[in-house]
Amino acid sequence: MPNAAYELTREFAEEMDKKDPLKGFRDQFFLPQKKGKTAIYFCGNSLGLQPRTVASYLDAELQKWADKGVDGHFEGEVPWVDARKPSKPQLARLLGAAPDEVVAMNGLSVNLHLLLVSFYRPQGKRFKVLCEAGAFPSDQYVLESQVRYHGYQPDEALLEIAPRPGEHLLHTADILETIRHHKEELALVMLPGVQYYTGQCFDMAAISREARLYGIPVGVDLAHAIGNVPLSLHDWEVDFATWCSYKYLNAGPGNVSGIFVHRKHGKDPGIPRFAGWWGHLEEKRFAMEKGFIPMSGADGWLLSNDPVFGLAALQASLDIFEAAGMEKIRAKSELLTGYLEFVIRETIAARDVLEIITPSKPTDRGCQLSLLVHKGGKTLVDTWTKNGLVADWRNPNVVRLAPVPLYNSFQDVYAFGEILSESLKH
Ligand SMILES: *Cc1c(COP(=O)(O)O)cnc(C)c1O
Repeated sequence: MPNAAYELTREFAEEMDKKDPLKGFRDQFFLPQKKGKTAIYFCGNSLGLQPRTVASYLDAELQKWADKGVDGHFEGEVPWVDARKPSKPQLARLLGAAPDEVVAMNGLSVNLHLLLVSFYRPQGKRFKVLCEAGAFPSDQYVLESQVRYHGYQPDEALLEIAPRPGEHLLHTADILETIRHHKEELALVMLPGVQYYTGQCFDMAAISREARLYGIPVGVDLAHAIGNVPLSLHDWEVDFATWCSYKYLNAGPGNVSGIFVHRKHGKDPGIPRFAGWWGHLEEKRFAMEKGFIPMSGADGWLLSNDPVFGLAALQASLDIFEAAGMEKIRAKSELLTGYLEFVIRETIAARDVLEIITPSKPTDRGCQLSLLVHKGGKTLVDTWTKNGLVADWRNPNVVRLAPVPLYNSFQDVYAFGEILSESLKH
């Protein structure tokens, strides 16, 4: 939809909601209340909302535990030893991967460490990691501690790529040029799919292609990408990826992460890794013998037995994604975020109180818009939250707004515009 077709009226927003093919999904979630009113929840980039079905998925496992005790591991529709398996094809569809390339396990930061054990193997001159400046703190700490573990100092081993002076975003050309320039020294390229602070979506296909020319492995942090933007990890030939399930995947606070390992590595039992019994050849898992033999595929990186309750909540959410379809989700997302951008621009008009730093091109972003607050700072944003908005402030001066296509509406966006307009009068 061209921007010119948007209108800053309640009627327009109502009409858009009426025509929305996903309109029925909002009712499948619990929407938080603020002062007795349904909040404008633009914080699904931090914690996705609870699907109403989650409790029944959890209850089924609680009941099974009550009824069967330890026998639950081998009985029932999905024996607990197989608990991770139903999520594989669904996660694979969201990631553009094959089911054997993905598995749900652990937390994101834990998985990043495990994957770096396998894919960050510095040697001689090749010991540097290309990452973005201002990465999410956990990713920074993971990388810092990994390079130290291999005997390097973070400031010599971490090559941070930053926006050009006076800019907020990275140019793909600059990323590719940096890879070329440092091709002899890079042991890894590690970037986010969608940058958490700016909302910029990277051209992972181009980045991966360039790194591959020089044999440099590429890892992607999909914390802000999965369930948000279309992904084709297999075809892009990224080497590995990890994500979390509690942001756009709506699987609940702290819930289970997952990994992608490209098939070309998944089939190689010789790749060094930290091992545990759940990654051992399934047929021989209970033989209790010496000598680790990894399962083929991403499962070869499993350590512990499956977190059944976390997976149950994840399953409830994945079933919603399956019913809605990622293509429809993405189509609505582009329209909805485009509308938010339009509403903000119209409302602030020529005033320089705010600046949207997220790319304007839909292919270069997900649903989040990051706003640099030039005037009023957190106090301005506090007036929005007092009036019913749930959003996410990040120091020093960015507020992130994420209208999520599964449960946010065009009327939410319009209502935010009214709050914004009111706040600018003072
Ligand atoms: C949310 C997020 C994390 C969180 O890490 P956990 O291990 O799940 O606590 C890490 N990295 C990025 C980029 C994130 O956005």
